[in-house]
Amino acid sequence: MVMVRVMKVHHEIIRFSTSKRFELIDITHRVEEIVHKSGISSGLCMVFAPHATVAIIANEHEIGLMEDILTFIKELTQPNRDWRHNSIDDNAHAHIGSAVLSSHRLFPVINGELVRGTWQNIFILEMDGPRTNRTIYVTIMGE
Ligand code: ZN
Repeated sequence: MVMVRVMKVHHEIIRFSTSKRFELIDITHRVEEIVHKSGISSGLCMVFAPHATVAIIANEHEIGLMEDILTFIKELTQPNRDWRHNSIDDNAHAHIGSAVLSSHRLFPVINGELVRGTWQNIFILEMDGPRTNRTIYVTIMGE
């Protein structure tokens, strides 16, 4: 008897707006809903932002820490520095933040559940808001 294992791929787009220049938006529950809806029990879940001025991170949803992360990102990327790209677009710091932190994160899916640590919520890190047309791709691959 030949076992045929069929890999499935499920894509969904999360659309949202941001209201501040720097902002963390928790999308954990939206991503987990998509994992459940996909029907995939074993595989990988990729959360990807098709934007050059945001990043995806996984960390604790604690208000003080969220502020600390934003403070650090501002110190790291120096929005007020005389970056060359600012003569075109005034958002070089956000491009640099996205380049350094990455625009995607990957999670295991086991027994139909996204695997993450207790203190690992999934956040979009906006660094050049406010924006009205942000999208995040959630792709789940597995069986
Ligand atoms: Zn730019």
